[in-house]
Amino acid sequence: MTNLTAILQRNQQFAATDIRRHAPPLPFLPHRGLFVVCCIDCRVDPADYLGLEFGEALVARNVGGRVTPAIIQDIAYASFLVEAKAPQGPYFEVAIIHHTGCGSRLLEDEQLRHDFAQRAGYDERQLAELPVTDPTDTVRTDVTRLLAAPQISQRITVSGHVYDTESGLVTTIVDAAAPASAAVEPVNA
Ligand SMILES: [Zn+2]
Repeated sequence: MTNLTAILQRNQQFAATDIRRHAPPLPFLPHRGLFVVCCIDCRVDPADYLGLEFGEALVARNVGGRVTPAIIQDIAYASFLVEAKAPQGPYFEVAIIHHTGCGSRLLEDEQLRHDFAQRAGYDERQLAELPVTDPTDTVRTDVTRLLAAPQISQRITVSGHVYDTESGLVTTIVDAAAPASAAVEPVNA
Protein backbone atom coordinates (compact mmCIF):
# COMPACT_ATOMS: atom_id res chain seq x y z
CA MET A 1 0.00 0.00 0.00
CA THR A 2 1.47 3.31 -1.06
CA ASN A 3 0.05 6.77 -1.55
CA LEU A 4 -0.40 5.84 -5.19
CA THR A 5 -2.45 2.71 -4.59
CA ALA A 6 -5.86 4.38 -4.40
CA ILE A 7 -5.00 6.68 -7.30
CA LEU A 8 -4.10 3.72 -9.50
CA GLN A 9 -7.79 2.84 -9.58
CA ARG A 10 -8.28 6.02 -11.57
CA ASN A 11 -5.78 4.68 -14.06
CA GLN A 12 -7.99 1.67 -14.62
CA GLN A 13 -10.88 4.02 -15.35
CA PHE A 14 -8.68 6.03 -17.74
CA ALA A 15 -7.52 2.90 -19.54
CA ALA A 16 -11.16 1.87 -20.00
CA THR A 17 -11.78 4.99 -22.11
CA ASP A 18 -10.34 5.80 -25.53
CA ILE A 19 -8.94 9.18 -24.52
CA ARG A 20 -5.39 8.03 -25.20
CA ARG A 21 -6.36 7.41 -28.84
CA HIS A 22 -6.78 11.16 -29.35
CA ALA A 23 -3.05 11.85 -29.36
CA PRO A 24 -1.54 14.12 -31.99
CA PRO A 25 0.31 12.18 -34.72
CA LEU A 26 3.61 13.60 -33.43
CA PRO A 27 3.67 14.09 -29.65
CA PHE A 28 5.80 17.24 -29.92
CA LEU A 29 3.04 18.87 -32.00
CA PRO A 30 0.35 19.08 -29.29
CA HIS A 31 -3.22 19.83 -30.36
CA ARG A 32 -3.18 23.39 -29.01
CA GLY A 33 0.39 24.20 -30.05
CA LEU A 34 1.40 25.03 -26.49
CA PHE A 35 4.37 24.34 -24.25
CA VAL A 36 3.46 25.51 -20.75
CA VAL A 37 6.17 26.26 -18.15
CA CYS A 38 4.78 26.62 -14.65
CA CYS A 39 5.31 25.89 -10.95
CA ILE A 40 5.03 22.47 -9.27
CA ASP A 41 2.64 23.88 -6.63
CA CYS A 42 -0.40 21.56 -6.43
CA ARG A 43 -2.68 24.61 -6.58
CA VAL A 44 -1.42 25.67 -9.98
CA ASP A 45 -1.88 22.70 -12.30
CA PRO A 46 -2.70 24.17 -15.74
CA ALA A 47 -4.98 21.19 -16.40
CA ASP A 48 -7.20 22.78 -13.73
CA TYR A 49 -7.10 26.53 -14.38
CA LEU A 50 -6.65 26.33 -18.18
CA GLY A 51 -8.76 23.22 -18.62
CA LEU A 52 -5.97 21.59 -20.61
CA GLU A 53 -7.08 18.25 -21.95
CA PHE A 54 -5.34 15.19 -23.31
CA GLY A 55 -2.69 15.93 -25.94
CA GLU A 56 -3.26 19.70 -25.91
CA ALA A 57 0.07 20.91 -24.50
CA LEU A 58 3.57 19.99 -23.45
CA VAL A 59 3.98 20.95 -19.79
CA ALA A 60 7.20 21.45 -17.83
CA ARG A 61 7.02 22.25 -14.13
CA ASN A 62 9.65 23.23 -11.62
CA VAL A 63 9.79 25.36 -8.49
CA GLY A 64 8.45 28.76 -9.52
CA GLY A 65 8.12 27.84 -13.20
CA ARG A 66 11.53 29.46 -13.71
CA VAL A 67 13.49 29.28 -16.98
CA THR A 68 16.47 27.23 -15.81
CA PRO A 69 19.13 25.51 -17.95
CA ALA A 70 17.13 22.27 -17.59
CA ILE A 71 13.95 23.95 -18.88
CA ILE A 72 15.87 25.54 -21.76
CA GLN A 73 17.22 22.10 -22.66
CA ASP A 74 13.72 20.62 -22.73
CA ILE A 75 12.38 23.43 -24.93
CA ALA A 76 15.46 23.23 -27.15
CA TYR A 77 14.93 19.50 -27.60
CA ALA A 78 11.19 19.71 -28.32
CA SER A 79 11.67 22.59 -30.76
CA PHE A 80 14.56 20.77 -32.44
CA LEU A 81 12.30 17.77 -32.94
CA VAL A 82 9.83 19.99 -34.79
CA GLU A 83 12.64 21.38 -36.96
CA ALA A 84 13.99 17.89 -37.66
CA LYS A 85 10.79 15.86 -38.04
CA ALA A 86 8.11 18.36 -39.06
CA PRO A 87 9.91 21.47 -40.33
CA GLN A 88 6.69 22.96 -41.69
CA GLY A 89 5.40 23.01 -38.12
CA PRO A 90 3.16 24.18 -36.66
CA TYR A 91 5.69 25.44 -34.12
CA PHE A 92 4.53 25.76 -30.53
CA GLU A 93 4.20 28.78 -28.27
CA VAL A 94 5.93 28.57 -24.91
CA ALA A 95 3.61 30.10 -22.29
CA ILE A 96 5.55 30.85 -19.11
CA ILE A 97 3.14 31.19 -16.20
CA HIS A 98 4.24 32.44 -12.77
CA HIS A 99 1.81 32.74 -9.88
CA THR A 100 1.05 34.78 -6.79
CA GLY A 101 1.93 33.42 -3.36
CA CYS A 102 4.61 31.14 -4.75
CA GLY A 103 6.38 28.83 -2.29
CA SER A 104 9.67 29.76 -3.93
CA ARG A 105 9.39 32.98 -1.90
CA LEU A 106 10.44 31.09 1.22
CA LEU A 107 13.93 31.28 -0.28
CA GLU A 108 13.80 35.05 0.26
CA ASP A 109 14.60 34.18 3.89
CA GLU A 110 18.36 34.47 4.14
CA GLN A 111 18.69 31.94 6.94
CA LEU A 112 16.51 29.34 5.25
CA ARG A 113 18.37 29.88 1.99
CA HIS A 114 21.70 29.48 3.74
CA ASP A 115 20.56 26.33 5.56
CA PHE A 116 19.26 24.77 2.34
CA ALA A 117 22.47 25.61 0.50
CA GLN A 118 24.51 24.04 3.30
CA ARG A 119 22.28 20.99 3.55
CA ALA A 120 22.13 20.20 -0.16
CA GLY A 121 25.30 21.75 -1.53
CA TYR A 122 23.69 24.39 -3.74
CA ASP A 123 25.02 27.83 -4.57
CA GLU A 124 23.44 30.44 -2.31
CA ARG A 125 23.62 33.20 -4.92
CA GLN A 126 21.83 31.04 -7.49
CA LEU A 127 19.16 30.16 -4.95
CA ALA A 128 18.67 33.88 -4.30
CA GLU A 129 17.60 34.33 -7.93
CA LEU A 130 14.88 31.68 -7.70
CA PRO A 131 12.05 33.28 -5.66
CA VAL A 132 9.03 34.57 -7.59
CA THR A 133 8.83 37.67 -5.39
CA ASP A 134 6.76 39.62 -7.91
CA PRO A 135 5.48 37.26 -10.62
CA THR A 136 4.99 40.16 -13.04
CA ASP A 137 8.72 40.92 -12.82
CA THR A 138 10.01 37.36 -12.81
CA VAL A 139 7.90 36.29 -15.76
CA ARG A 140 9.26 39.22 -17.81
CA THR A 141 12.79 38.19 -16.81
CA ASP A 142 12.16 34.60 -17.86
CA VAL A 143 10.56 35.47 -21.21
CA THR A 144 13.61 37.60 -22.00
CA ARG A 145 15.94 34.83 -20.83
CA LEU A 146 14.27 32.21 -23.00
CA LEU A 147 14.06 34.43 -26.08
CA ALA A 148 17.80 35.08 -25.72
CA ALA A 149 18.71 31.39 -25.43
CA PRO A 150 20.55 30.38 -28.63
CA GLN A 151 19.65 26.71 -28.04
CA ILE A 152 15.96 27.10 -28.91
CA SER A 153 14.40 27.16 -32.37
CA GLN A 154 13.96 30.64 -33.81
CA ARG A 155 10.52 29.60 -35.02
CA ILE A 156 8.80 29.08 -31.69
CA THR A 157 7.19 31.98 -29.82
CA VAL A 158 7.29 32.84 -26.12
CA SER A 159 4.69 34.59 -23.97
CA GLY A 160 4.50 35.44 -20.25
CA HIS A 161 1.55 35.31 -17.84
CA VAL A 162 0.64 35.50 -14.17
CA TYR A 163 -1.90 33.24 -12.49
CA ASP A 164 -3.59 34.78 -9.45
CA THR A 165 -4.28 32.06 -6.87
CA GLU A 166 -6.98 34.24 -5.23
CA SER A 167 -9.06 35.21 -8.26
CA GLY A 168 -8.19 32.14 -10.33
CA LEU A 169 -7.51 34.41 -13.31
CA VAL A 170 -4.55 34.42 -15.69
CA THR A 171 -3.26 37.81 -16.88
CA THR A 172 -0.99 38.10 -19.90
CA ILE A 173 2.10 40.17 -19.12
CA VAL A 174 4.16 39.61 -22.29
CA ASP A 175 2.52 38.90 -25.64
CA ALA A 176 3.89 36.06 -27.75
CA ALA A 177 7.05 36.98 -29.66
CA ALA A 178 9.62 35.01 -31.63
CA PRO A 179 13.31 35.04 -30.69
CA ALA A 180 14.28 36.56 -34.05
CA SER A 181 11.76 39.38 -33.93
CA ALA A 182 12.82 40.16 -30.38
CA ALA A 183 16.43 40.49 -31.49
CA VAL A 184 15.83 42.44 -34.71
CA GLU A 185 16.62 46.15 -34.60
CA PRO A 186 14.09 48.41 -36.31
CA VAL A 187 15.14 49.36 -39.85
CA ASN A 188 14.87 52.96 -41.18
CA ALA A 189 14.28 54.22 -37.67
ZN1 LIG B 1 4.95 28.30 -6.98
